[in-house]
Amino acid sequence: MAAGNAIRGSRVGAGPLGEDERGESAPRQTVNYYCARGHITSPSFALGDETDAPEIPLEWDCPKCGFPAGLDAENPPEPIRNEPYKTHLAYVKERRSDEEGQALLDEALTELRARRESVSVAD
Ligand SMILES: [Zn+2]
Repeated sequence: MAAGNAIRGSRVGAGPLGEDERGESAPRQTVNYYCARGHITSPSFALGDETDAPEIPLEWDCPKCGFPAGLDAENPPEPIRNEPYKTHLAYVKERRSDEEGQALLDEALTELRARRESVSVAD
């Protein structure tokens, strides 16, 4: 008697069936987007009705770096909006550190000489 009840209670697929039904009621399509920095974003889009074609954007903003990501892994869209600013900043920084380094060196040498002179004069 007890054994019969146990078998009835554990029907295979009772649990998983419910989950499957849920997944099928909202069909989704996962799309991979590739950004110029090599990140892969995989948002999923609800497909909706059969008559309603899913609107999958050609570009997707990479959540990791903010660059636009495209569908083509070989040719990710160029980050036109962000790159000029960043590149310019990096360029200026590089140039400045170079010039400043030279300037600081000159200044230090000049100061050193001036100090030595003043010291020798004072002596
Ligand atoms: Zn990215």
